Amino acid sequence: MKTKILVANRGEIAIRIIRAIQELNYEAVAIYETPDKDSKHIRIADEAIWLGDGPRCDYLNIDKVINATIKSGAVAIHPGYGFLAENADFARACEDAGIIFIGPSSDAIDKLGNKVMARTIMAEAGIPMVPGTQNLKAGEEGLEEAREFGRKYGYPIMLKATSGGGGRGIRRVETEKELGEQYEIARAESQAAFNDDSVYLEKVVVNPKHIEVQIIADSTGHTVHLGTRDCSIQRRNQKLVEIAPAFQLTPEQQEDISQTAVQAAKAANYFNAGTVEFLFDSDGSYYFMEINTRIQVEHTVSEMITGIDIVRTQIKLALGKELLFGQDEVQLRGHAVELRINAEDPKNNFMPEGGKTVRVYRSPGGYGVRLDGFCYQGYTIPQVYDSLLVKLTVFGWSWHETVDRLRRCLNNFVISGPKTTIPFFLNLLDEPDFQAGNFDTSFLDTHDNLLNYEEDASEVNKLARLIAEIHQKGENTYAA
Ligand code: ADP
Ligand code: ADP
Ligand code: MG
Repeated sequence: MKTKILVANRGEIAIRIIRAIQELNYEAVAIYETPDKDSKHIRIADEAIWLGDGPRCDYLNIDKVINATIKSGAVAIHPGYGFLAENADFARACEDAGIIFIGPSSDAIDKLGNKVMARTIMAEAGIPMVPGTQNLKAGEEGLEEAREFGRKYGYPIMLKATSGGGGRGIRRVETEKELGEQYEIARAESQAAFNDDSVYLEKVVVNPKHIEVQIIADSTGHTVHLGTRDCSIQRRNQKLVEIAPAFQLTPEQQEDISQTAVQAAKAANYFNAGTVEFLFDSDGSYYFMEINTRIQVEHTVSEMITGIDIVRTQIKLALGKELLFGQDEVQLRGHAVELRINAEDPKNNFMPEGGKTVRVYRSPGGYGVRLDGFCYQGYTIPQVYDSLLVKLTVFGWSWHETVDRLRRCLNNFVISGPKTTIPFFLNLLDEPDFQAGNFDTSFLDTHDNLLNYEEDASEVNKLARLIAEIHQKGENTYAA
């Protein structure tokens, strides 16, 4: 019997992982909730197990996922990103049930998932970071501590949920008055979202770049990095565009921050793939932000510039293999960009477009083009999950070649039905500051012209409407 691995996720990342499992000549077991019954990840898996009606609660149900794994005979679980991926209790439940969790130890997830604890570990290892507090106390005592921090370092300050993630639980506070208003609300929201009311403060780095480093470590402690990524282009502290390498940093700066990331991973006794995130200031200094203990959405760009299959590597390491390459063998070449094509209306504050049916779906191809998606013609996007439809990752030798290729791909993309981030990205590619590589985390706020596009203006969209009509009449001869 073939080795089986269960994929505890949905959408594009489930498909990404299933492909890696099948390439290793293992069998992939999918799980799903009722709203995902038509999802492509079920169709391509070797086996699929229904967990319940959901939404989300069954994907998040540790007992159900463990029982499905035992029932299927799978020896390991890949958690993907989101859902249970950074849940230390889940990793512990796997360990207790004798199931291999494809990721770091529950102990590492526990420590690094707590931003205050992670900062403490990194401070001891001498990793640079912005000034911050420990967890603040509840009520007036904590608020006074917070005010003191504000007086010492000046406003604005960042009020952060200690257990936060996914861009949520972060607020920039501009004045002491605002701090007073926000403090208890932030605690309550943190409790509701992350089941932990702890919050802490960080000094704000004004308009930094978000620079992160992909790390891989085996169980012997052999740790390598796969270079940098620039994820500065964000909306609501969430990434929209990811670029590898962070080419605006000098080669020396890239090397330095990458070595610091390796040091950070070693300080945490890190095992498997992970990401060390930094804030990079305009004066060249940089500060540790957090370690994400999972595969990241944007791992594709690092794969493109190194040729290393990170998910395959994760699986092999978890099954007890050692890393077969050293830092010298990791060669970075060219440029890669990932655009998150979301079912969202950028003009309406990137409001999700769930519930809509994809009437026409046509994707680009050709040299240097990679697609990680899960939708197809006729697919109705469930309203209850996130809005990512497909990731377009493009490789090019030079930055400009990569931008040109992205533009060609977006012009060839046809997604009719939901609004998407495609017209916004087309505008972005023509933005001189983007072309020149001038971007930091304030980019969207300082470039509201990016939202100036006409709905359905392009020839592609007209064509899509026509095709949709043909499709509805049952005479769709259109070949994707
Ligand atoms: P990445 O950091 O991998 O680029 P995101 O920050 O966009 O990815 O998060 C990836 C997915 O995981 C998103 O769907 C996000 O909502 C979810 N996510 C990330 N961290 C958490 C968390 N701590 N709790 C719940 N969901 C999370
Ligand atoms: P998450 O766990 O949700 O990913 P992070 O701590 O990684 O949260 O922060 C997400 C984003 O918020 C960063 O990429 C950055 O844009 C912004 N941010 C976080 N902390 C600071 C800070 N101290 N100063 C300025 N920006 C920050
Ligand atoms: Mg982060």
